Amino acid sequence: MKHQIDIEALCTERGLRITEQRRIIANVLSDSEDHPDVNLLHKRAAAIDPSISIATVYRTVRLFEEAGILDRHEFGDGRARYEAAPDTHHDHLIDVESGKVLEFVDPELEQLQRLIAEKLGYRLVDHRLELYGVKQLR
Ligand SMILES: [Zn+2]
Repeated sequence: MKHQIDIEALCTERGLRITEQRRIIANVLSDSEDHPDVNLLHKRAAAIDPSISIATVYRTVRLFEEAGILDRHEFGDGRARYEAAPDTHHDHLIDVESGKVLEFVDPELEQLQRLIAEKLGYRLVDHRLELYGVKQLR
């Protein structure tokens, strides 16, 4: 699903100073649907402005993450991957062979997780769920 999140607008909203390089990185992130890591973000940003260094990309994603604009995921391989923090919740299924990441929402599963937390005496405020799979041959 496409998030269509205007990271640049969120930066302005949260009082982050927007430099030209940050603007480019924000736009690359807004346009990415594949949960890219820093290397891939750098490749895409440098294609637009070759003066953008990997260090700048690292600093910028950290800044965006601290401002709550980005979500960071690891998906089991220890590699940090990013996506614009979505308006609505979704979970992920990771294809362990190709590394492809699928997004899904399942209302029954959401409800079940709330019930589990309640049984343990908690009100659920957040969760993360990652499914790891291999594509079935039909
Ligand atoms: Zn996602």
